[in-house]
Amino acid sequence: MLRRILFLLLLLPQMLSAQNSTSYLLQPDRVFDGTEMHEGWAVLVQGNKIIAAGAKESIRGGKETQVISMAGMTLMPGLIEGHSHLLLYPYNITDWDVQVLKESDSYRTVRATVHAKNTLMAGITTVRDLGTEGAGYSDVALKRAITEGIVPGPRMIVAGRAIVSTGSYGPKGYDTDMQIMLGAEPADGNELIRVVRDQIGKGADFIKVYADYRWGTKGEDQPSFTLEELKTVNEVARSSGRYLVCHAKSKEAMRRAILAGAETIEHGDFIDEEIAQLMKEHKVTYFPTLAAVDAINQYRGWKKGKDEEPAAVKNKKKSFRIAVEQGVTIGVGGDVGVFPHGENVYEMELMAEYGGMKPLDIMKAATNVNARALHMDNEIGAIKSGMLADLMAVKGDPTKNISELRKVGFVMKDGVIYRDETRK
Ligand SMILES: [Zn+2]
Repeated sequence: MLRRILFLLLLLPQMLSAQNSTSYLLQPDRVFDGTEMHEGWAVLVQGNKIIAAGAKESIRGGKETQVISMAGMTLMPGLIEGHSHLLLYPYNITDWDVQVLKESDSYRTVRATVHAKNTLMAGITTVRDLGTEGAGYSDVALKRAITEGIVPGPRMIVAGRAIVSTGSYGPKGYDTDMQIMLGAEPADGNELIRVVRDQIGKGADFIKVYADYRWGTKGEDQPSFTLEELKTVNEVARSSGRYLVCHAKSKEAMRRAILAGAETIEHGDFIDEEIAQLMKEHKVTYFPTLAAVDAINQYRGWKKGKDEEPAAVKNKKKSFRIAVEQGVTIGVGGDVGVFPHGENVYEMELMAEYGGMKPLDIMKAATNVNARALHMDNEIGAIKSGMLADLMAVKGDPTKNISELRKVGFVMKDGVIYRDETRK
């Protein structure tokens, strides 16, 4: 009997989703399908899937289909954030050290539920979360609560605690007599094998490693792991069907990360032609996190547009421009959390401002390119038959001005409408 009840309980979620066979016919002015813009298209959704997309005249729903007219709007795949920290919030409100050391995981997780909601309402239907920064596996728990429909939020793939080498990571500068809790899990040498496996066991969807950090003699970015160590992490992650992503700012750390098999480089502040070519050769995707640097420098007093650009901003611009010019695959990942959740478009605006990227290419990066980088391109990041119904619509045409992506008027995730201002 007990077994029978358990069996029924296991079936319950499937039964619920099968009942969600609501059908919608969405009629915007234009549809960006993840690659191209199409005027006069419509999209048909049934349950949690897109079942048709094409010229308005050719798409018809059934008797039960609800028609949503989206006059003046552009419909597109839900945006994908490639580099988030839902467990963090802006450092000008609370210093990173304080968030890591003085705030409990429970408190941070409660805050994170609000961050998740703000993210979804801004049209971001998926995030790749790059580490909890001292909040253990709260990302795994948050992901579960979102998946179960307990709280609204984007789909999440998560790193868990992330890995750093001994001595490299923060919080820093405290009395050495004290054992300070770090923002990620330290491991070195062969110990990395156990730690990678432990993180996977606790829910990491991929492995994030800090391949360098500010621990040079002058506080500059220096590689924190040897090439062999990074190769070990990559091999252990791969053998479980997961992959490696690396925080790397310095040239040498990027070189080691790429050669070790990392799939994405985070930050990359010192890309030159040689590194750009190496990234292309190894099919590495670059997540620039322009917004993090732009925001942090403003928190430190830089008056953008008035003062001279700080060195960190200059380096970032130069590095990003080289990546664009050399044709490196570039995703959208802003390190959101450093700046407010829901303001994810900030990174996309800087991709235009810093590197002269065209709005359409930035939109492609935030959907098609990011979906591939997340190994989810058969589910999300495109509008075509068979894909998950993760959609957003904005007032206006973002190919004319990328900031139009802020004018969100409609958000659907998994076939469920979370925001609808089409009738307002
Ligand atoms: Zn980050």
